[in-house]
Amino acid sequence: MVTKLPEYGYKDIFYNSEATMLIISIDKPLYTIIDVNNAYLKATNSTRESLIGTSVFGAFPANPTDEESKNIERTIFSFDEAIRSKKPHTMSNYRYDIPIPGTNEFEERWWTTTNTPVLDDDGNVVYFIHSPINVTELYKLTQREQAGVEALKQQQQQLYSTFMQAPVGIAILKGAGFVVDLINPQISELYGQTATQMMGRPIFDCIPHVKGQGFEELLDGVRLTGVPVKGEGASVLLERNGELDTVYVNFVYQPFRETDGTISGVIVVANEVTETIIAKKKIEEAEERARLAVDAVGLGTFDLDLVTGEMITSSISANILGFDEPAPRNEYLSVFHPDDLELRKKAHKDAITSGKLLYEARVIRKDKSIHWLKVEGKVIYTDKGEAVRILGTLLDTTEHRKAIEEQRKLITLVDNSVDLMSILSMDGTNSYINQAGMAMLGFDDAAHVSRVPISELHDPAHFALVEQEVLPTVMAKGRWEGTMLVRHLQTGEIFPVYNNCIRIDDPISGIPIAVGAVMRDMRPELKAKQALADSEQLLRNITSAAPTTLWMSDASGAVTYVNQTWIDWTGRHYEQHLGTGWLHAILPEDRKKVAEKLSGNIAVHGLFEVEFRLNHVDGGVHWCVLTGQPQYNSGGKFAGYIGSCVDITEQKHIQQQKDDFIGIASHELKTPVTSIKAYTQVLEKMLLKKGEVKEAAMIARMDAQINRLTSLISDLLDVTKINSGKLQFNDREFDFVPMVQELIEDLQRTTEKHTLVENHVDIGIVFGDKERIGQVIANLITNAIKYSPQADKIIISTSLKDDEVRLCVQDFGIGIAEDKLNKVFEQFYRVSGDMQHTFPGLGLGLYISSEIIKREGGKIWVTSSVGKGSTFCFSIPLHGKAE
Ligand code: ADP
Repeated sequence: MVTKLPEYGYKDIFYNSEATMLIISIDKPLYTIIDVNNAYLKATNSTRESLIGTSVFGAFPANPTDEESKNIERTIFSFDEAIRSKKPHTMSNYRYDIPIPGTNEFEERWWTTTNTPVLDDDGNVVYFIHSPINVTELYKLTQREQAGVEALKQQQQQLYSTFMQAPVGIAILKGAGFVVDLINPQISELYGQTATQMMGRPIFDCIPHVKGQGFEELLDGVRLTGVPVKGEGASVLLERNGELDTVYVNFVYQPFRETDGTISGVIVVANEVTETIIAKKKIEEAEERARLAVDAVGLGTFDLDLVTGEMITSSISANILGFDEPAPRNEYLSVFHPDDLELRKKAHKDAITSGKLLYEARVIRKDKSIHWLKVEGKVIYTDKGEAVRILGTLLDTTEHRKAIEEQRKLITLVDNSVDLMSILSMDGTNSYINQAGMAMLGFDDAAHVSRVPISELHDPAHFALVEQEVLPTVMAKGRWEGTMLVRHLQTGEIFPVYNNCIRIDDPISGIPIAVGAVMRDMRPELKAKQALADSEQLLRNITSAAPTTLWMSDASGAVTYVNQTWIDWTGRHYEQHLGTGWLHAILPEDRKKVAEKLSGNIAVHGLFEVEFRLNHVDGGVHWCVLTGQPQYNSGGKFAGYIGSCVDITEQKHIQQQKDDFIGIASHELKTPVTSIKAYTQVLEKMLLKKGEVKEAAMIARMDAQINRLTSLISDLLDVTKINSGKLQFNDREFDFVPMVQELIEDLQRTTEKHTLVENHVDIGIVFGDKERIGQVIANLITNAIKYSPQADKIIISTSLKDDEVRLCVQDFGIGIAEDKLNKVFEQFYRVSGDMQHTFPGLGLGLYISSEIIKREGGKIWVTSSVGKGSTFCFSIPLHGKAE
């Protein structure tokens, strides 16, 4: 049994070992080769003899072409490490080329070498075993593999960046939950998120608002069936910037297959086409709008084929031409107004050369109504220049023409106005001024108008009014009116106008678009006013100089003017007399009478006269007579009164003296005359008794004269009583006709020539003063007898109408001239003339009669004709004067 291997045994193992080995001495820097095995010799193409005893680096010099490896240095380092550490040291995968025998060439070799120190019994390194393994093939293989991996990596990188930069959105969703496995910015941006936010999360957790829009089902379908799905212009509601937006996308869902062909997810390729879709929609909307607009303005359209002569029309076109539905072209042609056919034909002919069709013509519809239409069209040509079609429109312009006509009339009206009329644009220039306005402001022509800013048309000193008041007011309130100063462009004259401004708004939007103004030149008016003021002043001067008072009232009776004389009389200011103020100058007890007289006459526009007493500035009371003459304006309308007031204090005074005298005289005469009458009657009786008939007759005549005297005296007394307001009345009931008959019976005795003819109706009881009424009747009959000496008949008739008793005395005597008729009832009035002295009297009878009848609430009047006779009548109320 062998227990210890002999040395040759180890040598054999050494020489025949598969591992390449060198035994090297530690004699740095030589590192002499001590021994080498067969595997080493084979691997390095060398012989044992050439190696043993030589330095390892001498045997294996460095390849001069390999400057990179630094293999000598690295090898020395490894030797040293092994010797120093007394432990094997390995150098992996380093290059150490070997020379090719017989050449100067080297063979590239890669090695992994272990240097193992061999120690003696003392533990000192005696030599080391250098055991290189040729890894050239392995190394090269690894190198190639590495390059392949690198290329793959690069490819992958390129793919990824392509994927990330793709102009379309791409995402890979994995599994039934569609977890985002890969997503590029395009698509994450589409979802309104970042890729990082979405990676690794189920897609519908990332965009929950997309749930329920049908996309889950689509994805599921692709995942389960493997059939791709495509969508174009699909609308999705996506949240962006916190708001839901409608977004349009084109997308493709494709199955994502593993290498074994199983579907593990879905590849989503999507790109947003919102802008394209919106643009498309806008175009569609624009087209729709255009169509609506065409319909809205009632524009008809037509397409005329010039080759076949066929024409396609819209129903509006047909309606414009008077047809319910589109009709053939020749039917359309038949409704054209015969006078316009030629014009239409020419327009069509011209269109072929000009390319444009344009004409206006009339059509006569079935209901005989005539309509104007405007035809516009465009001619379409072939490449060869042949006209083949006309596309055009039809518009019913009847209303438009009417409107233009109306506008023309309106402008004619405006242009012929004497006032300025203008339209001011919002830019501050006038867009229109009528002819009167151009003349007023000195414009040359219409073009001139728009060139001149309005500031030049106003008094510079007052333009602030226009800017700060007029225009703002017009804008805010819609109008302004008032006086302003304008300037004539040529002469520079500044003159006043009355301006009426209005804001003109757009009828649809309501936005102000212009300011309209109507200005009246105030110069003529001011001139007229001045002239009026001048003439008024003149009149005032004249009236102030007049010795009488003059006054004026308006139609209501309010005093509008008194002259200086009245002011002087009353000692009160002008203003104090205006209205009814003037009445305060009158004595309180007369005031009512005057006011009533005035108001009573105003109602009937009557002429009036009233007497009153005035508190004169001299401290005394003055009598005045006020007269009023109704005034009418140029239109014949009652305008008030103009009147005067005359101081009659002096006359009143004289009259009073006269009345007093008459009163006293008649009173004083009455007593002696009564005595004389009594003596006369006694004397007459005594003479008759003595039989002295002749003397008695003379006395009887004397008695008659005394009767006349008595009657004169009683007339005078009555007049004084009337004038002093002391005439007494004793009203009671009496039977009217018998009273008249009795009176006539007495009066018949005073005349032999006349027969007093009576003509009565049944009147019955009258309420009044029997004696006084009798006195009136007696007076009328006496006058009738007196003023009809040639006649032989006097007719006295009574009548009753509406509770009014009427009595008339008709004579056939001398009559009264027309112009004297009303005067006979005045005091002391006697109709003058040749016969005045023939008919004695004082002119008091009718005055007293008229006063009595008036006081009884009745009326007295006369109708007469000269030479033919007169009829005096009076009427009184049956039941007396109404209080
Ligand atoms: P006299 O005393 O003068 O008659 P009257 O007042 O009675 O006064 O009449 C006034 C005047 O009217 C008379 O002077 C007379 O001129 C006129 N007159 C009155 N009655 C008649 C009559 N019947 N016919 C004509 N004239 C008359």
